[in-house]
Amino acid sequence: MTDAPAGETGPDDLAPATRLVALGREPAVPGGQVGAPLVLTSTYHADGPVTYGRSGNPTWAALEEALGSLEGGDALVLASGMAAVAAAFSLLPHGGTVVVPDAAYNGVMATVAELESTGAATVRRVDLTDTAAVVAALDGADLLWLESPTNPLLEVADLPALAAAARRRGVLSVVDNTFATPLLQRPLAEGADVVVHSVTKYLAGHSDVLLGAVVTARTEHGRTLHERLHRHRRLHGGVPGPMEAWLALRGMRTLHLRVERAATNAADLAGRLAAHPAVTRVRYPGFGAVVSIEVAGGAAGAERVAHATRVWVHATSLGGVESLLERRRRQPDEPEKVPDELLRLSVGVEDVEDLWRDLAAALDRAAG
Ligand SMILES: *Cc1c(COP(=O)(O)O)cnc(C)c1O
Repeated sequence: MTDAPAGETGPDDLAPATRLVALGREPAVPGGQVGAPLVLTSTYHADGPVTYGRSGNPTWAALEEALGSLEGGDALVLASGMAAVAAAFSLLPHGGTVVVPDAAYNGVMATVAELESTGAATVRRVDLTDTAAVVAALDGADLLWLESPTNPLLEVADLPALAAAARRRGVLSVVDNTFATPLLQRPLAEGADVVVHSVTKYLAGHSDVLLGAVVTARTEHGRTLHERLHRHRRLHGGVPGPMEAWLALRGMRTLHLRVERAATNAADLAGRLAAHPAVTRVRYPGFGAVVSIEVAGGAAGAERVAHATRVWVHATSLGGVESLLERRRRQPDEPEKVPDELLRLSVGVEDVEDLWRDLAAALDRAAG
């Protein structure tokens, strides 16, 4: 949308669906390509704004333009969601104090445990649904790490209240927005300082790339953070391949369609699952496309269900077009707060009746 003549509607005035389709294109010139560029080069002719491939790439920039616009900030892409997590934690001063949920993405849980065991940080673990308890933990802290909804318990934080409380105390707030996507939740607009994404999941959406991103607010403070994160990316070298960035941008063109369909399927299935006799609990926050269920028969019962489906794929990860399921406690770093018999369902864009028949049959068999 760089092709809008000056003075006309800017890209941020258009609806997200319209921006998703067009952002990251090159300026319109007669005969020029409409698709975003895939630029494979490690170096550039001297004297330009970018000289080397670890500092910048036009394909990254195209993806960053699209994601930054959706989140209302400045985006930086990194090699994976965990590279984005590590970049965000680089903002924590050595020996600083971080407030984290007592259950969130297991890679984040393992990261803070390591910071704690090496003495690099003091860690305060909180129930992020207890807003007063989280606020009480902020005094003297340096960084508040939020994930909402959480993976895989689907707990939801009061983002505006917590971001405001953090800001009043000078605590940096970071929100992992992977599960909600910027279509359903925009943490920077709610007052957060940094947004983290596993682009691998909904944004790229086709289970074919690993990629991450950090997004900072378009404020003076945000720009300072952006510079620090940019420097971190350049010095640590966890840079994405241009092909991965191109695939992610191509996937993002249909983010609105995929999220809408998957979320509709998820809401439908959450209701039906609640009535199934083999399901003891359904966790569904009322939006998004991940539903976690607890099933009768403990871990073994859950494993039987995961191995008995035909349409649902038994695999880790989430956010792709295909429906995936997994018993999360299979993962070694999964927090103990996650029940042994919990199955995380990443609902895809397939026909909902096919999804239901397949899952209900697996549950019937496991229970029977
Ligand atoms: C998958 C995931 C990550 C890590 O992302 P990778 O792309 O796998 O490195 C971080 N946060 C959440 C919430 C995730 O689901």
